[in-house]
Amino acid sequence: MRIVFMGPPGAGKGTQASALVEKYRIPHISTGDMFRQAVKAGTPLGQEADRYMKSGKLVPDEITVGLVRERIKKSDARGGFMLDGFPRTVAQAEALESMLSTEEMNLDIVLMLDVPDELIVSRIIGRRMDPETGRIYHLDFSPPPYEVMDRLVHRKDDTEDSCRARLTAYHEKTAPLVPFYESRGLLKKVNGVGAQDSITERIHEALA
Ligand code: AMP
Repeated sequence: MRIVFMGPPGAGKGTQASALVEKYRIPHISTGDMFRQAVKAGTPLGQEADRYMKSGKLVPDEITVGLVRERIKKSDARGGFMLDGFPRTVAQAEALESMLSTEEMNLDIVLMLDVPDELIVSRIIGRRMDPETGRIYHLDFSPPPYEVMDRLVHRKDDTEDSCRARLTAYHEKTAPLVPFYESRGLLKKVNGVGAQDSITERIHEALA
């Protein structure tokens, strides 16, 4: 299975991709996580990416495409992968298509998690991550257990200003991927509003 998860920031792409990893036994590849790791490690890539991420802008295509090209060549991705947060521009989608076609591979499905803009800002501002388990919570909608409360982290780009910039980037640069993948018969929209488990259930149905 080669799956792409798309949707606005805060749609639940990371949460849902993590929930599917066990069932499908394919790696979850999140460009956002890869950039955050590089920022933390202070590598040249991280320093470059941080300049864009801080303000909610997209990291340039050449950098992002290079990162994904290297990642999907690894042996664990031979049997499939779940891409989360990539592609985010038509140029990235075209690059992905050409990377896969040189290996005679295709995408199986592009799942678009549909969440209205009005819900995005509150979802993002209340989002917290447990750095030990990687689990994502929401202070109101998916409250963390009391024991992990003290170690939760708040992403530094999960502020209201950055969130609005990310939404604008989504509408300008990423939304054109909807007709792009529709024209290839790959796009499946899934309602991303509701309890985490019911959304996972809808995704299983879409993948069945
Ligand atoms: P995410 O964790 O997917 O919300 O990504 C966090 C940030 O990383 C984004 O706001 C961008 O600055 C950067 N980023 C992640 N994936 C991409 C991508 N495919 N293209 C460009 N920038 C990206």
